[in-house]
Amino acid sequence: MLRGGCLCGRIRYEIVGPVGKALYCHCSMCRKSHGTAFRARLSVPKTSFRFIQGEDLLTSYRSSEDTVKTFCQICGSPIVNSWQPEPDSYGLAMGTLDDDPGVRPLCHEFAGSKAPWYEITDSLPQYQGFPAP
Ligand SMILES: [Zn+2]
Ligand SMILES: [Zn+2]
Repeated sequence: MLRGGCLCGRIRYEIVGPVGKALYCHCSMCRKSHGTAFRARLSVPKTSFRFIQGEDLLTSYRSSEDTVKTFCQICGSPIVNSWQPEPDSYGLAMGTLDDDPGVRPLCHEFAGSKAPWYEITDSLPQYQGFPAP
């Protein structure tokens, strides 16, 4: 089992079961919503994920037609995104995990939108948009 939660500790979740792939997203929306150079996103099947505390403190924002970002309304920690093309999974804000999920990000997506002050220094594949399947 993996556990995680928001900065203020009011929202807690657990993941039981398999997790999907992880990646780094450099798109401008992820940079804004996370306030960082990029977002680390772990795909988690909805059947593996459940809130154990504070679900009523979540609030959400539709950042684009197919994306809803859900975050703690007290401390602002991003928790999960829903993305229409993957209706059975959440995009988990990987930094909210307390435990090691075992998987590592495989690539950089939207590398063409990355912050000019950030240099990608690893050798993972970089995609201008979404990764090739
Ligand atoms: Zn919080
Ligand atoms: Zn993004």
